[in-house]
Amino acid sequence: MTVIPALDMRAISKSFPGVRALDGVDFDCHAGEVHALCGENGAGKSTLMKILGAVYRPDSGQLRIGGEIADFKHPREARAAGISIVHQELSLMPFRTVAENVFAGQEPTRHGILDRKRMEQRTEELLRRLGSTISSSTQVSTLSIAEQQLVEIAKALLLDATVLVMDEPTAALDDCDARVLLRLVEKLRAEGVAIVYISHRMPEVMAIADRVTVLKDGRKIWTKARREVEVDAIVTAMVGRDITEFFPAAGHSGPGDVLLEILRGSNAMLRDIDLRMRAGEIVGVAGLEDSGKAALAQAIFGDDPLTEGSISVEGRVVSVKSPRQAIAAGIGYLPGDRKREGLVLRQSVRDNALLTLQGMAHVFSRPHRRGLTQAETDLALKTMDVRAGDYGQEIGTLSGGNQQKTIISRWLAQAPKVLIFTEPTRGIDVAAKASIYETMRRLADSGRAIVMISSDLPEVVGVSDRIVVMHQGRISGELDRGASEEAVMALALGITEPNWREETIA
Ligand code: ADP
Ligand code: MG
Repeated sequence: MTVIPALDMRAISKSFPGVRALDGVDFDCHAGEVHALCGENGAGKSTLMKILGAVYRPDSGQLRIGGEIADFKHPREARAAGISIVHQELSLMPFRTVAENVFAGQEPTRHGILDRKRMEQRTEELLRRLGSTISSSTQVSTLSIAEQQLVEIAKALLLDATVLVMDEPTAALDDCDARVLLRLVEKLRAEGVAIVYISHRMPEVMAIADRVTVLKDGRKIWTKARREVEVDAIVTAMVGRDITEFFPAAGHSGPGDVLLEILRGSNAMLRDIDLRMRAGEIVGVAGLEDSGKAALAQAIFGDDPLTEGSISVEGRVVSVKSPRQAIAAGIGYLPGDRKREGLVLRQSVRDNALLTLQGMAHVFSRPHRRGLTQAETDLALKTMDVRAGDYGQEIGTLSGGNQQKTIISRWLAQAPKVLIFTEPTRGIDVAAKASIYETMRRLADSGRAIVMISSDLPEVVGVSDRIVVMHQGRISGELDRGASEEAVMALALGITEPNWREETIA
């Protein structure tokens, strides 16, 4: 006897203007099963689930729920069929209560009047089922992200979901909250819910999934039982190449003209920095936490300027006492903390690219905008291969990887000679990392100098053409491409004897 899956999607295709988001994808999920959906940013995971939830209509393909063909015209119909989706973007109303949010759009009434009491009772029931102690009358804005997530799940369960989709539910949670959520998923599975679980966190996927499906560029690569796969195989399928080929090759052209030169640079954090950066180079800057590597980025960008020594760009000494002067001199800076990069999700891709300096308001005393034309902006977006149907579309609809590229486009529109990346891949999944490395390589190959400040040793060793290691505010040594992690670490620890290795072994 064959068991009919709770959810069965067949040959689903969906294009957006300019993007084939899904190409003939098959996907199913059984009652009491957790099916993990993996894929790098932009692979099509959210789109597949939005088709399930009738947020989008597929161009072709078929959907069956409990064996019955379904052709939802409206998200309401999908919900009525038992499909609940906790979308990647939390969508609660912050100034309403928990109960009001759980019941939004389906408020119970009694004699035409809102039945608040029933709403609160039912919400409390749901929250207890989820093992939570949040009160139904609490205002949502006062809740933690984890608690808001729970309210979203309660909302999803209100209608007795048979299929529950969780789109990157733990992305914003710390480990402890994520564990609580995973236990909850296990509980719902035991209750017989079919769960589609989207996550970039491999340990989570390995811990919770019964089956794993990998999507790449809108196509299904494979579906396998979890006990038949290992993390490496998933990652390989996600990026479409072997994990050992994950770092980009060395630059094509070899280093060119000196673009940036620092001579005897010092400030409170830095001492006697001598550094030369050439066109075409990615220079990795490594060091322990307080080694001065972050201070070096801030000094080059004028955030915490040098008080002694000089900075030259293309052979000309420049004054870099502020970020504004740095930008004028041709220096760009991409902080690793994406929250500070200030994408405005409800505005268009183009506007976000245009907002270059406004988006960097935190480094300026007042907002500042250099008049870029639309053509210049579009060219930068095109150069960065930002995949959107139309640059007028809201940036919030793009995948994380494409949002990241938009941020970089902002800088390209300013035509910088030198780009500083700090911790470029911190908190980013392994597949998206590869694309960022390729982007850096491409920027270097196009005649720029890239400074990559990083605490990630494999990244420093794998990506850099040259490695500068800092220790106590000084450059403790430089290494060529191909240096070992051990050699970098030795310099980071201030061990500079050439024979450290033999000595330590001896
Ligand atoms: P994932 O969730 O796997 O990161 P998505 O399903 O969000 O990927 O996106 C798949 C592709 O479709 C991406 O290239 C994305 O930019 C594009 N895309 C998604 N939603 C829209 C939309 N509303 N309009 C245009 N393109 C979109
Ligand atoms: Mg997504």
